[in-house]
Amino acid sequence: MIGARRKVRMMKYSDKNKPIICMMTQSTCYKGTKKMAVKGVLWHSTGANNPTIKRYVQPDDNAADRDAMIKLIGKNAYGNDWNHSSVQAGLNAWIGKLADGSVAAVQTMPWDFRPWGCGSGSKGSCNNGWIQFEICEDGLNDAEYFAKVYKEACELTAYLCQMFGIDPNGSVNMNGVKVPTILCHADSHKLGLGSNHGDVLHWLPKFGKSMDTVRADVAALMGAVPSDDVPVADKVDNPEKTIWDYLMRKIGNAYGVAGLMGNLYAESGLRANNLQNSYEKKLNITDAEYTRLVDENAYPDFVRDKAGYGLAQWTFWSRKEALLKFARDKGKSIGDLQMQLDFLWKELNIGYQAAMIVLQNAENVREASDAVLLWYERPADQSDAVQKKRAGYGQGYYEKYAGDGKLPASGGMSNADCPFLVRVTAKDLRIRKGNGTNTAWTGKYVPPGVYTIVEVKAGKGSKAGWGRLKSGAGWIALSYTKKV
Ligand SMILES: [Zn+2]
Repeated sequence: MIGARRKVRMMKYSDKNKPIICMMTQSTCYKGTKKMAVKGVLWHSTGANNPTIKRYVQPDDNAADRDAMIKLIGKNAYGNDWNHSSVQAGLNAWIGKLADGSVAAVQTMPWDFRPWGCGSGSKGSCNNGWIQFEICEDGLNDAEYFAKVYKEACELTAYLCQMFGIDPNGSVNMNGVKVPTILCHADSHKLGLGSNHGDVLHWLPKFGKSMDTVRADVAALMGAVPSDDVPVADKVDNPEKTIWDYLMRKIGNAYGVAGLMGNLYAESGLRANNLQNSYEKKLNITDAEYTRLVDENAYPDFVRDKAGYGLAQWTFWSRKEALLKFARDKGKSIGDLQMQLDFLWKELNIGYQAAMIVLQNAENVREASDAVLLWYERPADQSDAVQKKRAGYGQGYYEKYAGDGKLPASGGMSNADCPFLVRVTAKDLRIRKGNGTNTAWTGKYVPPGVYTIVEVKAGKGSKAGWGRLKSGAGWIALSYTKKV
C-alpha cells in the first residue's frame, strides 16, 4: 500500500524544477572567475531598499530568451544592473520580486563558479567554496515579504545542499577555521573569512529568525519526512537544545540548568515570543503580532502593560523596561531567543546572586528548581505542589540532556513490541537504507518529533538496535531515541 494517505513535504526545487536561469555572462565576474570545489552556501542581503530583482539582474544583450526574461524579471530602465563589466562583484543567484511581484530565485552564474561575494578577512575568504546569493532587501519592516524571501532562500539552500551532498548542520575546516556549511556574510567576517558587513543579521532577527533557524529549516526541507508521522506540536521549532547548551556553558552544572529550564518551561513553554495567554485574549493579539508591534515601536505600552512576556515571562515594569532596552541596544527583536538568554544571564548575575550560587552548586534538580521558583520567578503560587511540578519538568530535561547529551537506550523496543512510538530529539539523526551504520545514508535526517517504528533489527552503531520507520523512509538508530 503506497501513499494511501501520505502527504510528503516536497522541496520546491529539484532536477525537474530548477530555479529561473538568467546567466549574466557579460559581467566581469562571470568572465574572469574560476571554478571552485563547493563547500557550502553563504547568504547575503543587498543593504538597499529595492526588492525588485530587475535592479540587479538582466539578461545578456544578445540572449536568445532576452525578451522572455525581461518579461519575467522586468526591465531595468536605468541600465545599472550587474550584468556589466563595470561591476566588480558577482553572485551565483538572486532572490527578490519578479515583474509580477511574486518572489523567486534567479541563478546568474553556474553553481561552481567562484563568486566575488563576501570579500576576505585576515584568515582568507569564503569566496573559495561557498555558493553565494543576495536577497533583495525592502524597508525591512514587511513581515510578509520577509517570510517569502526567507522561505525561498531556505528552498534554494536545501536544493543546493542536496545537489552537492552538503550536510546543512555540518562544518568544514578552512585555513584552521571551523566554518559552518551554511552561514551569512556577517558570520564570514566574524570568522576572519569575509569583509566587514552585517548582512543578513540586521534583518533575520527582526522576524525571529537566525542562521540557526536557517540550518534547521533547510535540514527539515531535506528530510521531507511524510507529515503524518510528525504530530503538530513537534513541527514547531524546538529551542530546547539551544537553551540547554547556552545555560550549560554559563552555569556548568546540569542540575542547575535543568532546574532553571523546568521553571522557564512552566512560564513560557520555552517560547521566547510568548505573550501571557490572558493578555492575548485581553488585547486580542497573537504572540507574533505583539512581538512585531513592539519591534516596530508601534506598541508603547510594553513596559507598563503588566503582561508577562518571553522565556521567563518578565512582567514587572522595571524588568520589562530593562529587557526592552537590552534588545534595542543589541539591535535584536524583543522575541529573539539568544538576546533573552543573554538578558536572563545578566539578570541572574546582577540581581539574583543567591539563586545563581545555588544553580552552580546544586546537587539535585529540586534544589535548583526551588531556588529559581522562590527567588527568581516568584509566581503567586509557590506551593509544594507547584515546586514539585516544576522540579519534575526539570528532571525531564536532566534525563534528556545530562551526560553526553545522548539518550540512554530504553526497553520495550524489541521486534515483538512493534509497532511502537519513539521520540527523536537529536537534530541530526540520519535515516539509513538498512539496519546499521554500515548501510548507506539516504541523504535525509529525521526532524525532531515522534515516529512509529514497525520493525526492529540488531545492527552496527546502535546498541538498542535499528528501527524501520512506518513512512518507508528507512531505518534509524534506536539508541538515540526514547520510547514514548
Ligand atoms: Zn554581503
